[in-house]
Amino acid sequence: MQIRVGLTTGDLTKLVHSRIVLSSVDGLSCSAGGDATALSKTGAGASLTISAKANTLHVEGVTLPPLKSGLSLMVRSLGSSQLVAQSLKRAGTAGLPPRYIGTIEIKPAGDAIRIILITDLENYVKGVLQSEIPASYHIEAIKAQAVAARTYALRPRIDHTKDFSNVCDSFLCCQYFAGVQTISARHLEAISKTAGEILTYDQKPILALFSSNAGSCTEDYQNCFSDPNTGEFPPPPLPYLKSESEREFAENQQTISESDLRTIWFDEAFISADSWSPHFRWHVVMSASALEAHMHHEVEVMKADPTMAPFIVPPQSGKFGHIKSFKVTKRGKSGSAIEMEIDTSSGAWTIKKELVIRSVFKNSELNLARLKSAKLFFDFKHDAIGLLSQVTVHGLGWGHGVGMQQTGAQGWAKQGKTYKQILAHYFQNSEISNT
Ligand SMILES: [Zn+2]
Repeated sequence: MQIRVGLTTGDLTKLVHSRIVLSSVDGLSCSAGGDATALSKTGAGASLTISAKANTLHVEGVTLPPLKSGLSLMVRSLGSSQLVAQSLKRAGTAGLPPRYIGTIEIKPAGDAIRIILITDLENYVKGVLQSEIPASYHIEAIKAQAVAARTYALRPRIDHTKDFSNVCDSFLCCQYFAGVQTISARHLEAISKTAGEILTYDQKPILALFSSNAGSCTEDYQNCFSDPNTGEFPPPPLPYLKSESEREFAENQQTISESDLRTIWFDEAFISADSWSPHFRWHVVMSASALEAHMHHEVEVMKADPTMAPFIVPPQSGKFGHIKSFKVTKRGKSGSAIEMEIDTSSGAWTIKKELVIRSVFKNSELNLARLKSAKLFFDFKHDAIGLLSQVTVHGLGWGHGVGMQQTGAQGWAKQGKTYKQILAHYFQNSEISNT
């Protein structure tokens, strides 16, 4: 099965590029649109640079007949060697440009281009596993990740049809895919032993979300995500993305409160499937002055971002005053914050949704892009005249904590669970089907 993967810019945020430089050890062939007949070929190792002007592609490095406006170009390797995207930067590729197996389609988009990799689903899963799960993990955990990654490609959270793709390559949007580098034998084994398997509900691929560490309990989908099409929050629940405790392999009846989070955080003897991970507990200490210097600015930046603005509700004054305290006013079943108040001298700001809550703490002074999770609680220190002087944020887990968590899958696999049992635990009510 072939899939289309939209390649993003170096910061993983945009699907339109100013240009791309491609090469292959065996040389490249270029054909127009869906046509497989080569218009031109390069010599071995030579590179092509492709850009666009007024919706017409411009190619350097090879002689081509004039290309019509709107026409896309298909670039393939002339042999079995990979396509090298010389102009793309990716983390996790040992400082080398990313390499791809398949055909790269370049589509003009005004004065910019879209870059789409057309590749076999199994090859795509190889790239995702390399980036998303260590080869040292238990084989059953890697197999569970392979099935989840394959499923996600067919049903991402954001519909990429408008981008002429099934999925994109950014972990900020979909799952990380930095091409195919050196693939470990264990990743290959996990992929071949689950070949073609996906998770379905009602005979359709499910939204197979996963994260690194859920901090003892996964969360209901509707408590963390808004509906990507309507922006509605909370969105309708998904029957297969339900909160699951990581203390036992059974239906979760537990609701975790703030005092439960405190108990888990400070109890070193606490054990769950994911408590072995170094990302299970974290804390950040912030001085009031470091917070004051950045948070009012971050709030303004986020208010200007249409994807975040609806989740930031200012007080009547509209102003961000001196910070007095933080309070989580609504939590999900796993204890993850859904709503938080920032009490300031100009009134209380309400911040909703886990990623927005985590992001409001972005602080360049502390080298912090966002908090690791929203499963958090606060402790405060005050100065001699009662003003806030320091905040400690204690947290559990890393990531949104919805669906499968990799460190939990590893914990269960080590306890003897199979990948099918692990997937049934994280994606209740789903079934395994073939593509
Ligand atoms: Zn995406």
